[in-house]
Amino acid sequence: MTKARFEKGDEKAFRQAADAAAQYRAALIDAPIRPDRTFADKLADFAEDLPAGGTSSDAVIAELADKSVDGLADSCNPRFFGYVIGGGHPAGVAADMLVAAWNQNSPMTEFTPTVTALEEVARRWLLELLDLPRDASMGICTGGTTANTTALTVARTEMLRRAGWDAEEDGLFGAPAVHVAVGAECHSAIQAGLRQIGFGASRVHTVPADEEGRMRPDALADIVAGLPDGPTIIVAQAGNINSGGIDPIGAIADVAESRGAWLHVDGAFGLWANVHPELRPQIEGVERADSWVVDGHKWLQVPYDCGIVLVRDMAAHARAMGHSAAYLPNSVSAADPVDFVPELSRRARGVAVWATLKAFGAEGVRDLIIRNCRLARRMAGRLAAEPGVNILNRVDLNQVAVAFGPAGETGDQLTAAVLARVQAEGICYPSHGVWHGRKTLRLSLSGYLTTEEDADKSVDAIIAAWRVLKNEAA
Ligand SMILES: *Cc1c(COP(=O)(O)O)cnc(C)c1O
Repeated sequence: MTKARFEKGDEKAFRQAADAAAQYRAALIDAPIRPDRTFADKLADFAEDLPAGGTSSDAVIAELADKSVDGLADSCNPRFFGYVIGGGHPAGVAADMLVAAWNQNSPMTEFTPTVTALEEVARRWLLELLDLPRDASMGICTGGTTANTTALTVARTEMLRRAGWDAEEDGLFGAPAVHVAVGAECHSAIQAGLRQIGFGASRVHTVPADEEGRMRPDALADIVAGLPDGPTIIVAQAGNINSGGIDPIGAIADVAESRGAWLHVDGAFGLWANVHPELRPQIEGVERADSWVVDGHKWLQVPYDCGIVLVRDMAAHARAMGHSAAYLPNSVSAADPVDFVPELSRRARGVAVWATLKAFGAEGVRDLIIRNCRLARRMAGRLAAEPGVNILNRVDLNQVAVAFGPAGETGDQLTAAVLARVQAEGICYPSHGVWHGRKTLRLSLSGYLTTEEDADKSVDAIIAAWRVLKNEAA
């Protein structure tokens, strides 16, 4: 018989939270997507002096559930297309509720075997699904930004080690120069990560990109040929945030191989192209990289937050990131989560990954990815048929960059006005972008609930807004 450890109101609080969560998610579809209330409104709702005395858990949760929903962004809505945000699959969400209840600090396998075993299963499933080397190591951290910084840190440390320099012991001052090449259209997370780990902006070589934002391998080869000898890191991207464009990774891997360079692939959402035969040609050669990043909280629908870093060389990963493995280099096959992420104390993020993968199954993930790509193409096709509406990218993946009116200031103003009107109407929620020097209304098809009907209804809303503004401007 388990001893009851609840105080008055605690058990009720759990049930209230679960009920409120279910109610929130069930009601969502017809709610407006943009929050009705502003930050100032919500601050006024919650601001009070810190209570001197306590409040029972159930009263706390009742207040939270009662006062919150009107200030939330409805990013689980099937017509939410902003910022590449996943829909938070219920299995992952519910699993995460359990993770919170279990309160397992999860840096070490021995301490909490259930959650670390689930993370290990998630690692095996992910590598199989993504068709990457099955013995690659995995770290699960807060998101693509941290995951990329982790991968770049491993690359830096390992490339220096191969050049005879021990960065763990001797640091970076006086170390051999490490050459870094990134694509001109790489994500800001890469620039930020490189700065954080000691590579100043002017040290990084920027490789020109093509019109889809894809690194040009011929330009990369030229740049690399002009570099002095020395450790080299090449950062490729799978999935440009504006165009969805995937760098030609096979050709980039050829350059990396001939140079002996570390190849990292930032595939925060685009890495999923490798799960479907129709998309796979775009990402051919991805398995040849040394490290990869993919987000759980974007296209895989794992609830926030979840970024995943995968490294071919498990020992290099553990040497660079580990608290313990640096001193136990022979035990890395049994390494702990702490050896693969920046954190010591950590939430068991892999449990929600496991639950989401289990809920979808391999076929479910493949279907999710291809369905979103087809819906993106459908929306782009319908929008392109409307006079004055321009699609600025090839819609090979799940992103659509839309610009209204002529190029230049007039068009930019119209595009901003259409976006503002569509967002305010609340039928669908695109976000903003800039592509080919033009402001865009950006659609990211990355939720698991979106249907053809949702896509059509959203396109209708966008076209209606455009017609009104076009007539007003005329
Ligand atoms: C979203 C994204 C990132 C950053 O990931 P976060 O999870 O937001 O930290 C990095 N690179 C690419 C290509 C992305 O799309």
